[in-house]
Amino acid sequence: MEGRAVVVREGERFRVVDLEGQQVGDLFAFVADDVREYASAEHTRVALSRLFPRPGESFLTNRRRPILRFEEDASPGRHDMLCAACDPTRYASLGVVGPHASCQENLLAAMAGLGHAGVDVPQPINLFMSIPVGADGTLGWETAPTAPGDSVTLRAELDAIVVLSACPQDLNPINGPGPTALAVELLDRP
Ligand SMILES: [Zn+2]
Repeated sequence: MEGRAVVVREGERFRVVDLEGQQVGDLFAFVADDVREYASAEHTRVALSRLFPRPGESFLTNRRRPILRFEEDASPGRHDMLCAACDPTRYASLGVVGPHASCQENLLAAMAGLGHAGVDVPQPINLFMSIPVGADGTLGWETAPTAPGDSVTLRAELDAIVVLSACPQDLNPINGPGPTALAVELLDRP
């Protein structure tokens, strides 16, 4: 499972499609001309006064500027803003011995491919990920409720480098029977 980076200009829309369903996508967005500024789940939660995003709302950067607007949700509407990207340490803690793909490494590789080595790893916007919070604060680890072809559409509010990692997590149920591919479609390119 891999990640991809695309440059999206201010005003342009893109769509993330869950091709086969039940697949989480870790979404990151960096300001194109200064990658030290990026979409930040914690700053977004403060602005929204809510744990999870809804259409019509914007994701904020760590400098509290809108970077992506959540335009349309053609999915069951579950998107997590609590969980860190999976990384080698997470897989080691789950008992994996040896290499295992991770969203952190997918992000770093995709950004390095555009000349931005060693960027910060922000807490992602976990598209299609269903992590309900119980009354006692317990996190649920549910399977992504998406069906094949479900999608979300976002619009860049700044020139941004958007990175999407199809989460390779296969040691808990979030990706159903196993990880599958996502697609990113740029909607406003001729
Ligand atoms: Zn992941």
